[in-house]
Amino acid sequence: MSPNSDTLPGSLSPMWYDVLVVGGGFGGAFAALELEKQLDGRSERVLLVAPESFMLFSPLLPEAASGTLEPRHSVIPLRELLGRTDLLIGHVTSLDVEARKARVADLNGGEHDIEFGSAILSPGSVPATFPIPGLAENAVGFKSLADAIWLRNRVLHQLDAAEAARDLDHRRRLLTFTFVGGGYAGVEALAELESMTRDAVKRYPTLSIADCRWVLVEAQDSLLPGLHPKLARFTEKVLRRRGIEVHLDTRLESCVDKRVELSGGRVAPYDSDTIVWTAGQRPAPLASQWGLPTDDRGFVPVDDHMRVDGRSDLYAVGDFAAVPDPAGGLAPNTAQHALRQAKVAAINVAATFGAAEPRRFTYRTRGLAVTLGKWQGTAQVKRFTFTGPLAWWMGRSYHLLMMPGIARKSRVVSDWTMALLFPRDVSQLGQLGTPSPLE
Ligand SMILES: Cc1cc2nc3c(=O)[nH]c(=O)nc-3n(C[C@H](O)[C@H](O)[C@H](O)COP(=O)(O)OP(=O)(O)OC[C@H]3O[C@@H](n4cnc5c(N)ncnc54)[C@H](O)[C@@H]3O)c2cc1C
Repeated sequence: MSPNSDTLPGSLSPMWYDVLVVGGGFGGAFAALELEKQLDGRSERVLLVAPESFMLFSPLLPEAASGTLEPRHSVIPLRELLGRTDLLIGHVTSLDVEARKARVADLNGGEHDIEFGSAILSPGSVPATFPIPGLAENAVGFKSLADAIWLRNRVLHQLDAAEAARDLDHRRRLLTFTFVGGGYAGVEALAELESMTRDAVKRYPTLSIADCRWVLVEAQDSLLPGLHPKLARFTEKVLRRRGIEVHLDTRLESCVDKRVELSGGRVAPYDSDTIVWTAGQRPAPLASQWGLPTDDRGFVPVDDHMRVDGRSDLYAVGDFAAVPDPAGGLAPNTAQHALRQAKVAAINVAATFGAAEPRRFTYRTRGLAVTLGKWQGTAQVKRFTFTGPLAWWMGRSYHLLMMPGIARKSRVVSDWTMALLFPRDVSQLGQLGTPSPLE
């Protein structure tokens, strides 16, 4: 270890680490947590680098957007979760896996050179976009906590603006919400926000839910790829019953000036003030910069020990990696898989120190659950399918089980209980993050 002489005394002074973990999401945070368990009482040092000081529990993001859950409760502070791991909040800007060196840009714009023995990489994914006219300027994603908070405030802002609008066309444009991409994120976000709007609109004397237009556009012939077709059809039926337009086999062709044009000619072009792009993710575009191998979709291939190129000092997990699924093919990019892969990678790193036995990734998908707003959901557990309130409850219970820490679990349960007992909080806090200037 070579201590840095010009740094303040504190946890980050040695810039040599036995293990570097990149990313503080499901893969990174759970890898660090497992390393703490495996290396308990030993001297190996672990550094986790993440751009935010919290882990986003993304399965709860749609509920954070709809206000069923306090947004702060959908994150887990990394400093609360991890006890003996050093944290550096910033981005890994370069990585040399041969020299085992990384450079990190911190929040002050400063740079840190890190040398490491082994690395576990989990920088996740970014929204997969296409060069559709108007998309970059007019659409937003649904991936971060900021996206969820923005979208909630946006919907409530649109209701207030529509209530005050005098022109009917203007009002229609304000109240039209288009979601492009009928996967889990798109369906859950739309369903939760529409459900919130149903509650909120009752407080507006001149508005009704019929004034709102919700449109879901999906390029494939079914919603929710990967889910049992029966459940995908059930989901479609529930959404349509609520008056949501579902356009399958349809693509967004243009949204210049927020005028939406869809393929197929079945839907006349229309104005939509809010357009949300939820049409899939692609791995964080870092692999080529870091000289890592990739498959044709940009994922870093790993073996069943999570090793990159069979190396025992380099591991990749989560949405960044192409992981062999024990059932055949590749494991899906989900939180439940990322956290199990992270544990396997951490155990295998610990094994290189003689602290554990090497392990293979053998996890098979147990099930999937989709919440569709209050009391509505679909769930699949192995070959059994569930719909309605039971599925909604099962989805919630599963997410709660996945969440680490009794304090966080309790906060979430308390939010859910309050949401069942009392009307939804529909305060619009769009000014958050913009402090008032002093006169
Ligand atoms: C809205 C939504 C809902 C979802 N719902 C579910 C669900 O119900 N069930 C389920 O199983 N899965 C769900 N998922 C998928 C799940 O969130 C992902 O599969 C999972 O988060 C993948 O974990 P990860 O660690 O690979 O990536 P992430 O959790 O995204 O973490 C990656 C982290 O790496 C950081 N990072 C990126 N670049 C760098 C860098 N250069 N240096 C340092 N850090 C970096 C990122 O900022 C991020 O914090 C959902 C996803 C979304 C967006």
